[in-house]
Amino acid sequence: DVLINKIAAGEVVERPASVVKELVENSIDAGSRTVRVALERGGLGRITISDDGQGMSAEDARLSLERHATSKLRELDDLFTLSTKGFRGEALPAIASVSRFTLHTAERESYVGTRITVEGGGEPLVEEAPPRVGTVISVEDLFYNTPARRKFMRRESTELQHAEEAVIRLALAHPDVSFFVEHGGQALFTSPASPTDARERIAAALGPGVHPHLVAVEERRLGVNVTGYIASPEYTLPNARGIYTFVNRRYIRDRGLNSAIQRAFQEFLAAGRQPVVVLFIDMDPRAVDVNVHPQKLEVRFADAKGVGDAVNAAISRALRAAPW
Ligand code: ADP
Ligand code: MG
Repeated sequence: DVLINKIAAGEVVERPASVVKELVENSIDAGSRTVRVALERGGLGRITISDDGQGMSAEDARLSLERHATSKLRELDDLFTLSTKGFRGEALPAIASVSRFTLHTAERESYVGTRITVEGGGEPLVEEAPPRVGTVISVEDLFYNTPARRKFMRRESTELQHAEEAVIRLALAHPDVSFFVEHGGQALFTSPASPTDARERIAAALGPGVHPHLVAVEERRLGVNVTGYIASPEYTLPNARGIYTFVNRRYIRDRGLNSAIQRAFQEFLAAGRQPVVVLFIDMDPRAVDVNVHPQKLEVRFADAKGVGDAVNAAISRALRAAPW
């Protein structure tokens, strides 16, 4: 099982950012209002995620480290839809197999908590611990026991950028949750929940300068609902890093969507400039296959043209309506 977990880790735990993504997703799934991420050495030294979610009983905590012990697959059909995040009960055992892993959790109003320690996928040590609100997971010395993978890590600053980006993607999709990221004790990304103004979250992610330029987009056609924000064409970037697309609140990358976005902006942008676009595409989960990529960054739409058309129409209409 240690080997199987390590193989799973090879597929899904590519770098510190993958750990951050999986753990923060779990915290969001647990109904947390605030998620804190503390990193050391770009996440290679330590990743600590603490949340104020529903926590786990001792039994659930123990199960969470067993493969495929997910609590989130309610129906087989879930396997084919976007209605659950994560990759179905593999994340924690996979992460614990390639790090020194500690989990401390308690259920709401419980008098006792649980601490579990795992060293490189060995036998979990389960202990009673003080009660707490929510869960804290600490992942130290990532890949210390998989030197081949460890060798592929880039500079700490690069790994850190990827880890921060993983949080930003989740933060954009969950404006009702507060996120705090720090590195070496220094605040890196601070974004209190802003349920009434999603633009605050975009400004936290992309810089405060974008805020006054953000324009809402909205389009519904043929079961595809497109919402979100674009920056007016007077605010552009030299690269495509301001383009975020989400399908059913999950960050994805898709060539077809990108070209639909580019086409809509074509006549508005100077050469070499890229727009800021944060788009949420909500649709029937059965009309999109998410299982084409181990990290689920890519999807396959049953009607790719229809989705592209909806995105293009949403942006084109916003661009035509505004006075620039
Ligand atoms: P999945 O997210 O696919 O269910 P994971 O391996 O990521 O699989 O997590 C396993 C289980 O552990 C989850 O289903 C959940 O029950 C529990 N869990 C993990 N992280 C947390 C957390 N931060 N708060 C509460 N429960 C958690
Ligand atoms: Mg998960």
